[in-house]
Amino acid sequence: QVGLAAYDSQVAAAIADESARQEAHIELIASENYASRAVMEAQGTQLTNKYAEGYPGKRYYGGCEFVDKVETLAIERACDLFGADYANVQPHSGAQANAAVFMALIKPGDTVLGMSLAHGGHLTHGAAPNFSGKHYHAVQYGLNPDTGEIDYAEVERLAKSHRPKMIIAGFSAYARVVDWRRFRTIADEVGAYLMVDMAHVAGLVAAGLYPSPLAHAHVVTTTTHKTLRGPRGGLILAANADEALVKKLNGAVFPGQQGGPLMHVIAAKAVAFKEAMSQAFVNYQHQVISNARAMAQVFVERGFDVVSGGTDDHLFLVSLIKQGVTGKDADAALGRAHITVNKNAVPNDPQSPFVTSGLRIGTPAVTTRGFGEADCEQLAGWICDILDGLADQSDTGAVEAEVRDKVASLCARYPVYGDAQNSEPA
Ligand code: PLP
Repeated sequence: QVGLAAYDSQVAAAIADESARQEAHIELIASENYASRAVMEAQGTQLTNKYAEGYPGKRYYGGCEFVDKVETLAIERACDLFGADYANVQPHSGAQANAAVFMALIKPGDTVLGMSLAHGGHLTHGAAPNFSGKHYHAVQYGLNPDTGEIDYAEVERLAKSHRPKMIIAGFSAYARVVDWRRFRTIADEVGAYLMVDMAHVAGLVAAGLYPSPLAHAHVVTTTTHKTLRGPRGGLILAANADEALVKKLNGAVFPGQQGGPLMHVIAAKAVAFKEAMSQAFVNYQHQVISNARAMAQVFVERGFDVVSGGTDDHLFLVSLIKQGVTGKDADAALGRAHITVNKNAVPNDPQSPFVTSGLRIGTPAVTTRGFGEADCEQLAGWICDILDGLADQSDTGAVEAEVRDKVASLCARYPVYGDAQNSEPA
């Protein structure tokens, strides 16, 4: 058998370039992280060859005795980690986990109430171009523009007037603690299911640093690759699920939405859940939050508007409305300095969703590579230098070049995978 580089130099070269980019650029996309070598090793195994439609002990194919062990371990660990009594580890992604819950709990055409994409919700929470907005009657709630926080009174008003069958709480861009209990109260008032999508904060929840939605939601979904730092994938959880709910959820994943599970990814999920039970992981999540707070504070001190004034989690949003700078231009300028962020809509945004007036900044990835508060403060200062240049409409070429050099030396100090000792992210 020939290795990848010898067999396919084009793909091997692109992978090598991407690995080098990950080492040399600063990653501030809030949904990204660096999986450990152990997670990646599990994912790159012969388990990719195995068909295992069904669930442990009830498969449609032979030869499943070892993958059954892997999936059972993943389920048990997910339940232990999150205090759940039901876990489905098969969803290929967060979007598919969400689609399965829709399929299990409600019918096409039913009304759902979710957070709008423009205010920090996810596509699958009822956005028009997504299955959730196309096949369901989606009503959307958002943030209070004055506080930048979820407007629970609006959620309640919309729930009472539209009587949704399911309410979705959870977000892709929200820096504050969501009141899961309040959502459940509203859901109960109108007889709706409550689905919580905790994809962004799953790692913080696992570490006990963000309130768990498990006691409040009928069903919880998550991805496994964001703050949780596992392989790309989805997960469905529930506490106190009765047999009928378990049957509906399992049936919605397979055969409802998917065929064969990705057993190599499930093995990697099991490894990630084990990592997430460690004290090192709890320490890591503490640092993620401290780093996000330290960065947000610099933006505030430098005169930028941070939506809701700060952060309680791993991310924050910077509004550039006051500066007259678009998220698109800021994202591009920072990219030229080898700092990766994403443009993001902010409350009262005058720009379209493709342009926006904000940035979403997250610390899970930089914290994994070892950045502490001092590094993050320095980094936030460099970002502000570039944004100040854009606000002044001056040529930002020189400041971008200067920051690019500083980024290179900071990245060299904190290799992600380059250091053989660093096989287990802190
Ligand atoms: N749910 C939330 C809250 C997300 O932020 C995301 C992805 O960004 C997803 C679901 C979808 O996950 P995936 O990209 O794995 O489909």
